[in-house]
Amino acid sequence: MVDCVFCRIVKKEIPSTVVYEDDDIIAFNDINPVAPVHILIVPKTHLKNLSDVSEEHAPLLGKMLLVASKLAEEKGISEKGFRTVINNGPEGGQIVMHLHMHLIGGKQLGHKMG
Ligand code: AMP
Ligand code: ZN
Repeated sequence: MVDCVFCRIVKKEIPSTVVYEDDDIIAFNDINPVAPVHILIVPKTHLKNLSDVSEEHAPLLGKMLLVASKLAEEKGISEKGFRTVINNGPEGGQIVMHLHMHLIGGKQLGHKMG
């Protein structure tokens, strides 16, 4: 999608600090981190959010979680713990309308979820 910031990152039109990439997924550091580790795990195909996925995307969604687990291990936060978050739509706090998963860790996170 032309005006989508994450599609532009996928196409390398906008720079990012890439920490993982394969044919389906790119992961890069969040530009405004809320914790020492704050990575965005992004499917290369443009999907708006979880309201835009169907059965065919099940392997992709599974892969996003596997990449999160792998990156948590690599970043040394697997043992102590971390959080994965997918914001969906305006009331879910989604700002960038291209499906992405936040991987956050490296400090004690609060219990508040809403
Ligand atoms: P969300 O509220 O789930 O849509 O989160 C969007 C996230 O994307 C925010 O944490 C932003 O800091 C992050 N973000 C926006 N633009 C960029 C960018 N160009 N590079 C890296 N992260 C970005
Ligand atoms: Zn996009």
